[in-house]
Amino acid sequence: MINNNNKILTDSYGRFHSYLRISLIEKCNLRCNYCMPINGVPLKPKKDLMTSEEIFEISKIFVKYGVDKIRLTGGEPLVRKDFEEIIKKISTLKTKISLTTNAVLVDRHISYLKKIKNLSINISLDTLNSEKFKKITFRDHFTKTYQNLIMLVDNNFKVKLNVVLMKGINDDEILDFIQLSIKLGIQIRFIEFMPFDGNSWKKDKLVSQNEILSVVKAHYANHFIEESTDTKNFIARDFKIRKLNASFGIISTVTNPFCDTCNRIRLTADGKLKNCLFSNNEVDLLKSFRSGKLIEPIISGIIDKKMSVRAGMDTFEKFKNPEIHSKNRSMITIGG
Ligand code: SAM
Ligand code: SF4
Repeated sequence: MINNNNKILTDSYGRFHSYLRISLIEKCNLRCNYCMPINGVPLKPKKDLMTSEEIFEISKIFVKYGVDKIRLTGGEPLVRKDFEEIIKKISTLKTKISLTTNAVLVDRHISYLKKIKNLSINISLDTLNSEKFKKITFRDHFTKTYQNLIMLVDNNFKVKLNVVLMKGINDDEILDFIQLSIKLGIQIRFIEFMPFDGNSWKKDKLVSQNEILSVVKAHYANHFIEESTDTKNFIARDFKIRKLNASFGIISTVTNPFCDTCNRIRLTADGKLKNCLFSNNEVDLLKSFRSGKLIEPIISGIIDKKMSVRAGMDTFEKFKNPEIHSKNRSMITIGG
């Protein structure tokens, strides 16, 4: 419901933004080829990034106006030295809290993560083959990642597995991932490969929602139905495989976007607020916050400018045009 208090987070299409995704860092211990440009990204000096205190204070303002879910992401959030201090502070706010991580450093933080009540964790893992893992991430951390995934499951965390599918690379693993999710009792979400600056996106590399469904249908012979669990602000379409009492999700931002129900806003590690994953229209919240200005009008202004679909890329033709999509940041500096 829109009242004066949460008007600030409501855009001109009436979408109320209750979900804040905060990127803690631009650095990463992996270099996934769909996320990190081949030559890396110029890293900003530490003084230009939000401190843990600033992250907390800015988050408090968002929570005051109605944010009820905060996701910590990156780069790789667990690489940040003060990660535990940040999550501890955020966990004192009245919001749901979640983390997106590549899991490489989970074992180092597991005792601390266990202290955070109701923490849900999304793990990104795109292959179950260690050689392929090296090719995708340019690092040899498959075993560690897999062991850490199991560690989280064994410790009863709410875990979701994110898999970015790319043609000719890991699209032959769709059924293996579904089997794994059944075996471990975790949710799995296949993500359509999206275009960002420097990630060499091509339509031919995309594995679309329809293609994913036809692989599953061919194998499970129509034993599944579409069933969206949260029609209010859903970002993944959920599909049930009735025979196995199993399900999987698809994030089909490219071929079937979810913009109508979008409730997400993004704060980058350098304190810029983005009203859409695909928008290059950003405001410098951190600069204003540091100079002691009220940040509410700035938040309200950028949310009001949010466009109805994918920052104006409302057709596939526009979306696949590198002239348009490469004006946005690289994913590594947005946070997903
Ligand atoms: N390092 C953490 C991780 O990998 O989970 C958090 C940051 S990462 C940018 C957040 C999510 O974005 C991951 O699930 C990753 O797979 C996804 N991602 C990155 N680049 C993408 C792309 N081009 N298309 C679709 N998803 C992408
Ligand atoms: Fe790092 Fe995550 Fe991007 Fe991979 S997807 S390079 S793990 S930030």
